[in-house]
Amino acid sequence: MTPPLADDVKGRIGAAGPLPLDAFMGLAAEAYYRRARVFGASGDFITAPEISQVFGELVGLWCALRWLADGSPSRAILAECGPGRGTLIADALRATRAVPGFHAAIALHLIETSPTLRSLQAEALGGFPARWHDRLADLPTDAPIYLVANEFLDALPIRQFVRRGAAWRERQVGLDGDRLVLVDGPDASPPPDLLADLPDPVDGGILEHRPAADAFARDLATRLVAQGGAALILDYGPAHSGYGGSLQAVARHAYADPLAEPGEADLTAHLDFGRLAAVARSAGLAAFGPAHQGHWLLAMGVRERTAQLAANATPAQAALLASGAARLCETPAMGRLFKVLALLPGRPETPEGF
Ligand code: SAH
Repeated sequence: MTPPLADDVKGRIGAAGPLPLDAFMGLAAEAYYRRARVFGASGDFITAPEISQVFGELVGLWCALRWLADGSPSRAILAECGPGRGTLIADALRATRAVPGFHAAIALHLIETSPTLRSLQAEALGGFPARWHDRLADLPTDAPIYLVANEFLDALPIRQFVRRGAAWRERQVGLDGDRLVLVDGPDASPPPDLLADLPDPVDGGILEHRPAADAFARDLATRLVAQGGAALILDYGPAHSGYGGSLQAVARHAYADPLAEPGEADLTAHLDFGRLAAVARSAGLAAFGPAHQGHWLLAMGVRERTAQLAANATPAQAALLASGAARLCETPAMGRLFKVLALLPGRPETPEGF
């Protein structure tokens, strides 16, 4: 057994001083997603595709509808970032089998760094051919890309800045005795364009920035502009940039201290949808939304599809389907905090669900 990451991190900090928060979060995520126990009822947290099969089905249909709207290109890339256990993509593939020509046209590409999750994904695909990559930049360059990312960007590292007097300091992870704590690091500034749209900061105010999400939006824009296609980003976070720290950890379905046990809990922070849309727009994409996840699902037909499934199910299964759909659409956390953003090249009409 490898020793806990916490010991390693403490050793490093003891020897070389505090670690920037994004470096800490990157180490924690890498260790965490390498483990087998992650999602689902017996894991640490549950995601939308694990709550109802209809979620992945509607996401898959959205991709197929975009492919149809583009004139059914004979070759296309269906891509998912951070597929977790592979539930979403398996549901998406099953739901799109009946779309004439879609499966013959698509090559499936999964962006996933965890070897453990790659094998769970292969299992979920049940023989459907797929290729795995570490990065978006590794996708083929010769066909339109239909890409989905559910709760992917929220797991990428963030930087945090805290306002002290007239300066910004970057937050780092340091040691207080044997405990990992957040400390004020050196003076550092958030990106000026992120600050431009915000009111003046108050003393002690916190601002988060996720450089990897900016890079993702720019890389995605380059690809979609050159190759065509569409992207659907589903995640949790605010529609507009603002102040406030949102780093959180979840383990065994309960909130945990984000610093206490790196690699043992799922560490995430809000996705700043306003920022993601702004970066994508400035790189040439059209952005639609973010819509509340509940609204998007209802517009895509979650009720109708759930009723259709329930009609052929046992009463117990039907009750589960109904409560799953209600949980996805109606609870404040899932229905409202979770949002859906579509990114498309060119001058597109409003895509489905927005
Ligand atoms: N989309 C899934 C799981 C979300 S968890 C669901 O909805 O259930 C985040 C996923 O992103 C995991 O599969 C994790 O291994 C992967 N991941 C995290 N950081 C990554 C990175 N930097 N590059 C590629 N994949 C990453």
